[in-house]
Amino acid sequence: MINAVPKAFWDELLSELGADAIDHSPATIADYGANLMPSGDRMPGGVLYPASTAQVQQMVQAANRHRVAIWPISTGRNVGIGEKSPVREGQVVMHLGRRMNHIHEIDETLCFAEIDPGVTFRQLYDELGRRGHRLMMSSTSGPTDGSLVGNAIDKGAGYTPYFDHFGMTCGLEVVLGDGRILRTADGASPGAKTWHLVKYGFGPFLDGLFVQSNFGIVTRAGLWLMPRPPVIRCFIFSFPDDDDFGEIVDLIRPLKLNNFVPTLFKVTNDVYSLGTVETYPYGRTGGKTPLPDEVRGELRRQHGIGSWTVSGAFYGDSEETIRPLIERVRKHFERSGKARYTSHEQALESRIFKIHVDTFSGTPTEEEMPLHEWRPGGGSIWFLPSTPMVGSIANQHQRMSRSILARYGFEFITEYVCTGRVSRALHPLIFNRQDPDEARRAAECYRALMQAYAEAGYPISRAPIEVQEEAMARLQVTPEVCRDLKRALDPNGVIAPGKYGIV
Ligand code: ADP
Repeated sequence: MINAVPKAFWDELLSELGADAIDHSPATIADYGANLMPSGDRMPGGVLYPASTAQVQQMVQAANRHRVAIWPISTGRNVGIGEKSPVREGQVVMHLGRRMNHIHEIDETLCFAEIDPGVTFRQLYDELGRRGHRLMMSSTSGPTDGSLVGNAIDKGAGYTPYFDHFGMTCGLEVVLGDGRILRTADGASPGAKTWHLVKYGFGPFLDGLFVQSNFGIVTRAGLWLMPRPPVIRCFIFSFPDDDDFGEIVDLIRPLKLNNFVPTLFKVTNDVYSLGTVETYPYGRTGGKTPLPDEVRGELRRQHGIGSWTVSGAFYGDSEETIRPLIERVRKHFERSGKARYTSHEQALESRIFKIHVDTFSGTPTEEEMPLHEWRPGGGSIWFLPSTPMVGSIANQHQRMSRSILARYGFEFITEYVCTGRVSRALHPLIFNRQDPDEARRAAECYRALMQAYAEAGYPISRAPIEVQEEAMARLQVTPEVCRDLKRALDPNGVIAPGKYGIV
């Protein structure tokens, strides 16, 4: 059982680690408690800034002695999922990214990096650039100052062939809740030179325990990188109608199941694209929400987009080798009679389309961030269900989301990121958090979406802090197994109790 943070905890850390390592001033607490959730900010008990794995260990040991709960973050730029704020009020945020943000190694032969939890997408990109861009990383389309480690262990993803960010980590260093330091896979073998090369190593694969969990604090990671292809060429198709989505999904599936197209496919809807360059047109709708179809149509025409934007990319050693591949994909999509093609060069001239080129090129971009300001008042909560790559099911899903969102006064904003078998739907619910009625509707709408998808047999893959406990409570046996693991690895429950519903 965790109590309020005792003064002795702060005094001890102050004398052992110095004033740079702690801050529990009211201004800092307010800053770290802020988030974009409907239910409001969640104030931490203070903030810790460790400078090394040894300091993380000291802090965890002190937390055990004083029964203090710690909420670890790398950079806390998990926008629409919880930002820096803890799952429960009063937990002490451990902000690893402030001082643990070094790139320890980049191996350009075997193509991996060893990084601290605070290394950001932009930082690694810049360092790879300084070395001549021989290697390419996979980036999200989220904030460029978010961390690679935080994103990977929260099951974030990108768009290039290395899109599976956790899958591309190899070898973690973790401070467990009981204070032990674990190096996973070959890292457990003293002097091993293969820590970041051999993913599974000897014995059980422990890395997975630290994903969306609260058994330990990740203090270092190996990350695989891809040799940067000399030429990258993106292709984009626009489809005019909402119900074209089913056909799009059926067209994508064969191209991804055999990896003819090496990147993932993005299928972005009109409002998601519009939200990167426009805000909600209250003037045109006379203050009415959700967005009427006529106004949505007008905005689409104005910005030269369809109901759906489908994109992917090819990599090669020259334009000549890529051209026939693009021709093949064009034939495939244009068979439908509805697809309108936009070339890589044309895409570079459009703010809306350039985001696709950047993300398929492993280039961090801030251009998608304005989407969070589609409606005023700074509310954003992301719903992330999975949709099988079967057109009829995909169309049922988009119709279900559209009608639930409309019922609560919100428009459908989505991007489906497609592999061959399943797509992850990113449904950001953007709402006016300053308007109590709209915030209440956002919370209810989120739960209605979660309920409808669960009943239809499609659980979510990632949850904002606000619904993590509810989402875990829907599962069978997993909550009990997680509780057993928690007891074994963090017997005093000092790391993020309640995170992903694990207590
Ligand atoms: P990002 O740095 O990518 O913005 P966050 O810092 O917001 O990611 O963290 C995302 C999620 O992962 C949060 O639930 C957070 O508690 C968890 N997390 C982030 N970094 C660590 C870490 N180094 N060790 C353990 N959990 C972490």
